[in-house]
Amino acid sequence: MVDATGERTADVRVRGGRVVEVGAGLTGDETLDATGCVVAPGLVDLHVHLREPGMEDAETVDTGSRAAARGGFTAVVAMPNTEPALDDPAVVAAVLAAGKHACCEVVSSGCITRARVGEALAPMGELYDLGVRLFTDDGACVADAGVMRRALEYSRALPGAVVAQHAEDPDLAASGAMHEGAWSSRLGIPGRPAAAEDVIVARDLILAELTGARVHFLHVSTSGAVDLVRAAKARGLPVTAEAAPHHFTLTDECCATFDPIFKVHPPLRTDRDVEAIKRGLADGTIDAIATDHAPHPVEQKERPFEEAPAGMLGLETALALTLTELVDPGVLTLADALALLSWRPAAIAGLAAHGQPVAPGAIANLCVVDPAVTWEVDPLRLASKARNTPYAGRKLTGRVRHTILAGEPIVVDGDAQR
Ligand SMILES: [Zn+2]
Repeated sequence: MVDATGERTADVRVRGGRVVEVGAGLTGDETLDATGCVVAPGLVDLHVHLREPGMEDAETVDTGSRAAARGGFTAVVAMPNTEPALDDPAVVAAVLAAGKHACCEVVSSGCITRARVGEALAPMGELYDLGVRLFTDDGACVADAGVMRRALEYSRALPGAVVAQHAEDPDLAASGAMHEGAWSSRLGIPGRPAAAEDVIVARDLILAELTGARVHFLHVSTSGAVDLVRAAKARGLPVTAEAAPHHFTLTDECCATFDPIFKVHPPLRTDRDVEAIKRGLADGTIDAIATDHAPHPVEQKERPFEEAPAGMLGLETALALTLTELVDPGVLTLADALALLSWRPAAIAGLAAHGQPVAPGAIANLCVVDPAVTWEVDPLRLASKARNTPYAGRKLTGRVRHTILAGEPIVVDGDAQR
């Protein structure tokens, strides 16, 4: 068992939705075999696109939460770029209602601005009253510094709230379809420069200092952004950051295939950026691994590179990619990896029922991981409605065996139970 308190070997007994006993030789009415496995707090994903309402041909709360549970997640934060956007209490309430029957806890983010267009603030207080803690216009950057300042100031009146920025300056990123660099020149694909991310991160750190508000950076992808966040933390600013698995496992060279499966915003960067993300994860600069799970219908992702929508699936591969690419090579310890996937994101989103030590009294949100099993990613066998994983055919080490949500086995031996 690995949690925030350290590693030990034991059985875990669950009753009435809670962990009631941890020790040797425990039995119960129903037993899930965890031989050779790690029992950990359920994983928490700060960044998923469930596409409901409005884009249910790509994903729904139901299918996305099943993919999450198979990936070991017991809680996910749904992003607001739905149709309509999550800028309205009624829309947020509908997502939360759908989440009541889901395979994991579904938490709704709320927009920073109405319709995510970066102008008038969304009714943040009303959304907060429904339980929203993470405010973001994700998919779009809050480009206007005055608007961002007001959002940060407003968030200070909402205890536990955090403003989360999709840091890409729209004027610099413009219509770029991949990272701007040697590969974009060679391929003739318009680029999105690293500077588009860096300038917004730098600006928002200054605004965080000005307002005293918490700021969170979604899907950090550049070495410059990692350095800025590291320096801000050293100055004591209340800043957190997440990185997505594709930004520590893939580079812009993948785009040489012209396959839009590799198109994502912010884009896949260079080897140097990948190394910086890994360093940031290892030294605590980056607080969380978040998937940016972004399903798209097959026909959308089969359009030409520059026309295809950006985004890739992540929920069912995030843990295995972390184990294979970061833990096995010694970049992170297993406990560090689980911290990045569970209790640190739980703390950012204020999810007190998740990421807790596996100890008597804790709500039984757990995942049981076999760290040694190897498997190959098969897009046709994913629980997500979409198929746009960039990892088809990739061999990974480590897989979720069971996922338990508030005491209920949702995934058993890798299979979703509902
Ligand atoms: Zn984003």
